[in-house]
Amino acid sequence: MRSSLPVLGLVVFLIAQPCHAITIQIDYTYDTPGFFATQASRDRMSAAAVTLGDLLEDHLDAISPTGTDSWSAGFFHPSQGGLQTIPNLVVPEDTVIVYVGGRSLGGSKLAETNVGLAFASGSPEFQETANSRGQGVTVGAGASDFGPWGASISFSTTASWNFEAALPAAGQYDFYSAALHELGHALGFGTSDAWVTRVANQAFQGADSVAEFGAPVPLSAGGDHWASGTTSFGSQAAMNATIVSGLRRALSPLDLAALSDIGWQVDVSGLSTGDLNFDGLVDISDLVKVADAWLTPNLQGDANHDRRVDIGDVTFIAENWLNVVGPRQGSGLSSQPAVPEPSAIVLVACGLVGSLAFYHRGAGFCRKRRVTGARVPGAKHFEPCCQVLPRADHKG
Ligand SMILES: [Zn+2]
Repeated sequence: MRSSLPVLGLVVFLIAQPCHAITIQIDYTYDTPGFFATQASRDRMSAAAVTLGDLLEDHLDAISPTGTDSWSAGFFHPSQGGLQTIPNLVVPEDTVIVYVGGRSLGGSKLAETNVGLAFASGSPEFQETANSRGQGVTVGAGASDFGPWGASISFSTTASWNFEAALPAAGQYDFYSAALHELGHALGFGTSDAWVTRVANQAFQGADSVAEFGAPVPLSAGGDHWASGTTSFGSQAAMNATIVSGLRRALSPLDLAALSDIGWQVDVSGLSTGDLNFDGLVDISDLVKVADAWLTPNLQGDANHDRRVDIGDVTFIAENWLNVVGPRQGSGLSSQPAVPEPSAIVLVACGLVGSLAFYHRGAGFCRKRRVTGARVPGAKHFEPCCQVLPRADHKG
């Protein structure tokens, strides 16, 4: 008979460390061109937010300004550019606020993310909460976690998007895939100090990622994406630098391992859905993927993520039969005129981190981290997205 002590210890731990899904709250206030005018586009955006948030189990402290504790949330205006500030924004616990909008981004950019800034004054405790949400060291070379209040994401107004729950047609870029990718940046992938401190030799050295990949994970030229073509369980990872039209990408175990490495508590088991072709439904098409990969090293058929394609995957799919997962809800959008697009397009991230350093040192607003990304065939020149913003007003 096993000792009950470890069990008791686990129970105490679970009581002391309650698990929380993270609510990624999408805000369309600053979408001045009306990119999100259709319900379908908002449905895909929120589906991506729910999918990612449900995989996270962190607890983020609320930012509740009161008395002399005050702050301004600063972020890159998702549609017009430049710094936007909101005085004394209230951010509920376990919630990250993401302002989204459409913007003309230039030929090869599909989307870009800018992490929010916090300009806080008052008690040291409040300032720390505004900057790190109780996550400990989030700034500098010793950063081991990330606790953002939020971010902004700009989506290209000229790309040919698929806003449908169904898989994209040839030539269309899958909005759900891009939204997932950008939300990954909002949570610190490529944009946090906890990420930067784990990059060496053009590879990501985070322990969970190395264990998942089998080696340090090669990065794109900018150091803030997996190198193009990086795969996890046989499929291209969501956080690769480029996305190809006509395909959907789901979050992979490797993408989640990176989030774990930068401090997020991740529920990896939530990734195993049985939806092998990422169309949002567990059905016969997924069994076909298993059959195609049967007893081969092709892990595209590995539904239960045990690194084998065998009867266990058939059973797993059967257990999840006709489950609706991922982005499949809401109605579709009427088709748009086709727009010529390069075969692949660059997804851009920009980390506006270092706000604590800014606050204390009064130094430059933006770290000016150059994001060079990967060149793709047919893509035009690629500019760093990190713009020098006007110096922000902040109290204290
Ligand atoms: Zn990206």
